[in-house]
Formats: sequence, C-alpha cells, structure tokens
Amino acid sequence: MIPKVRFVYSPVYQMVVLELRTGLTKYDEKVFGKISRDVWKHEDIKKKKDYAKRLQLIWDKEGVRALMAMSRIVGFGWDEKIIKCYLLDSSQSFSDPMTIRASYDIERDIEGTLHEMGHNLEVQNLDKINWKRYNREFGKEDISVRHHILLHAILKLAYVRAFGHAKAEKYLSFYGTMPHTYARAWEIVNSYGAEKIIKDFIKG
Ligand SMILES: [Zn+2]
Repeated sequence: MIPKVRFVYSPVYQMVVLELRTGLTKYDEKVFGKISRDVWKHEDIKKKKDYAKRLQLIWDKEGVRALMAMSRIVGFGWDEKIIKCYLLDSSQSFSDPMTIRASYDIERDIEGTLHEMGHNLEVQNLDKINWKRYNREFGKEDISVRHHILLHAILKLAYVRAFGHAKAEKYLSFYGTMPHTYARAWEIVNSYGAEKIIKDFIKG
C-alpha cells in the first residue's frame, strides 16, 4: 500500500536524540540546562510545528505522487497505512522511526523524506530483492555505497515518472553536496543503468 506520511516535530524526541548524541543527561542541569531550555522554547516549537505543516501541504501533492511511482517501479509497496515522519534539527536522517534532519528547505526535505521512504520500502520487502546476486555484483563496494545503489535506481526512475526530467534533475542535484559514497552509488547507477538494476535485482 501507499502510506500516508505525517510530518511531526516532537521536542521530547529532539531531547532524547540530543542526550544520546552528547552523552549528557537532562538531569545534569549545569551542562544540559541550556540545551534543554533551547529545545523547550515555546516560540521555537511553534516555528518547527508550523514548518511541519507547510511541508505536509507540499508532500500531500508531490510526495505521494513519487511514492506511487516508486511502488509501481518495483511492483510492491509499504506495510503501514500511516508513517510518522519526525523532523529533527540535529542528527542524521534514518528510515525507522522515520526521522529527517530538517534543512528547512522544503524541496530538500521532500527529497530527504523520499530517500528514507525508499530505504523503508526495501527494509519492508527484503524477500523481494535478489540480495545474493546483488552482493555478488556489488560486494566489493563500501557498505554505504551498497545501501544506495538499488535505492538510487528506484529514486531516479520514480522522480522522472512523477515530476518530469527538469524537476527530477533538481532533486537529484541535492546529492552533489553529500558524502562521496552517494556519488559512487550514482556512478554505478548511471553506468549499470537504473532500469537494468530494477530488472536484475528485484524479483519478478
Ligand atoms: Zn540513505
């Protein structure tokens, strides 16, 4: 199925992530007090929640279209009807619980969410991917590169199908500022061919 993605900002989750990242605890008033007071500033919470609402409006038009294209390309969908997507100020993005490092640039954050939804789609359908063949073909690449070859092939085809070439190019250009493992994954997708990756590694 195609899930509804619900964008939220949660100061509680933000606090927990900051505690984990800094190794500090909220009970350590001296060192964590300022961080904690910053997270709980009401006007900041309101700003972040407002941003989540704005992002939701655009996502409901564009994001959903791309999810449908992704699902059609691979021939399967997601297990859940609703996926909550947490926006955080720090930390990295990851797919479960769906957490996006907010850039406060709507298009970047829509693309970031689609990227994590793609990881999520793979993780929920591990048995539908021919990992044996995939690892034989790409086993020598770094783990982060291996995690992104199939995903990038799906995204590339889905963006063109959902948005057309110009907008797809814009979304894909965001990867230019990311770590080199992403660039390496794109290099492989472009030389192997996105369609051929889907054909070779998604079980029919
Ligand atoms: Zn990724």
